[in-house]
Amino acid sequence: MLYNSTRNNGQKVSAQMAMKEGLSREGGLYVPESFPTLTQADYSYLLEASYVKRAAYILDKFLDDFTFEELEAYAQKAYGNNRFDSEDIAPVYSYDETTFYLELWHGPTCAFKDMALQMLPHLLTASVKKTGDQRTVCILVATSGDTGKAALDGFSDVDGSKIIVFYPKDGVSEIQKLQMITQKGNNVFVSGVDGNFDDAQTGVKTIFTDAAYQEALNQNGIILSSANSINWGRLVPQVVYYISAYCDLVKCGKIKMGDTMNVCVPTGNFGNILAAYYAKKMGLPVGKLICASNRNNVLTDFINTGVYNRNRDFVLTMSPSMDILISSNLERYLYDVCGKDDCYIASLMDALKQDGKYEVTNDIKEKIRAEFYGGYASEEETLAQIQKAFTEKRYLMDTHTAVAAHVLEQYRKETGDNTVCVIASTANPYKFNQSVLAGIGITEQAADEFLKLEMLQKASGLAIPPQLTELKFMKQRFNTCCKKEDMKQVVSSFLENGSELE
Ligand SMILES: *Cc1c(COP(=O)(O)O)cnc(C)c1O
Repeated sequence: MLYNSTRNNGQKVSAQMAMKEGLSREGGLYVPESFPTLTQADYSYLLEASYVKRAAYILDKFLDDFTFEELEAYAQKAYGNNRFDSEDIAPVYSYDETTFYLELWHGPTCAFKDMALQMLPHLLTASVKKTGDQRTVCILVATSGDTGKAALDGFSDVDGSKIIVFYPKDGVSEIQKLQMITQKGNNVFVSGVDGNFDDAQTGVKTIFTDAAYQEALNQNGIILSSANSINWGRLVPQVVYYISAYCDLVKCGKIKMGDTMNVCVPTGNFGNILAAYYAKKMGLPVGKLICASNRNNVLTDFINTGVYNRNRDFVLTMSPSMDILISSNLERYLYDVCGKDDCYIASLMDALKQDGKYEVTNDIKEKIRAEFYGGYASEEETLAQIQKAFTEKRYLMDTHTAVAAHVLEQYRKETGDNTVCVIASTANPYKFNQSVLAGIGITEQAADEFLKLEMLQKASGLAIPPQLTELKFMKQRFNTCCKKEDMKQVVSSFLENGSELE
């Protein structure tokens, strides 16, 4: 199977090249030329298979330049060996007869990013090798919290790779910072940046576009790459869990094979919900795709009006992983829905770059409205939703998941559509302990993060993930911070001297 660029149909590359390059040269994103469809035989296999086998089986349909055995070995490394604290890897929680939470946060860093970032390092390093490239991949990441830690954990001690993560010095939560600066592994480095997330992001982009620097690295056997969700290798593992959830619902008798299931996803970069759309394209009986936003509701407006306009205030919310005004993966959906008109996509993305906005045609507007529902939750509505689920069922959810739960209720009220719905639950509630405590009505102040974890445990009875409690006792390896002008210097120094600078 070959992959096209969303901005140039003439570009056709293998899955391995698509993953190695990440982004196409003219700035487009790689998408499969065609989509495999699931047959009865496929479902018979998937229904009985473990998550590792389901992942290998579905990836095999997209990544045909790997063997099933290779993919199974990567999936085993990613999801096996007790790396996840649930045997099901992505278990489905039954809230009531029509509402199900697909818990995607049982991995090592307690956020759904693990579902893809435990897999990507194996796919990426193998792709580099298999395309005859001897170089070491160096992953550069600018993070506002979750991605950085999940990428560090995924790439830690993976042969043929190094990773360096920059985070804004005062722009991540205390737990998130501790998670990163205590990261183990001989191929990892972490540095604070004196600035905000945009400064860190701009610094990383500057390094990526510095041709002379890349050439110098190339001479030293290094190829730079990124771990964000524009890479196909990060998107494709996400298709798996929607199919897996459907199989689980059939297996436990909540639905019959062939029944429709709606999907509701708390959305930032549009990666997770796009994966659900792709599962639908493969023939999974998905009905409405419900796209939930927080106050940064650029996608809600887009779905409702066909105008994408990022010229608005950026709001800091209690669901920070969705504080995004440019949803990069929307480009992949638009390419599909406009009939692969690469020039049209290039013109929309150009308008977004120049004017910060674009408007799609009436025909596309209608298609979007038929497929998606867009809604958003305010901060108060988010807290109220956490409270409601906890009061009704003693079910504890994080702020991002609560945004989705609120929008699903809004959708059901508005449309009367009570079809079975799977909500993507994207973070362990302990990761956002401060807001979750407020949500369940505990306003008492705690002196530090670890006391907050304990308070939440006392109130909820949910076990604290050991990888969070352990942070208190772990060695803080990376206590340096750099000026934004010096990021390139930090990269060079790490590549020359390694991470043992303590
Ligand atoms: C990244 C993230 C999201 C948003 O996912 P997208 O794929 O960017 O839409 C939602 N919730 C949490 C907890 C996240 O970390």
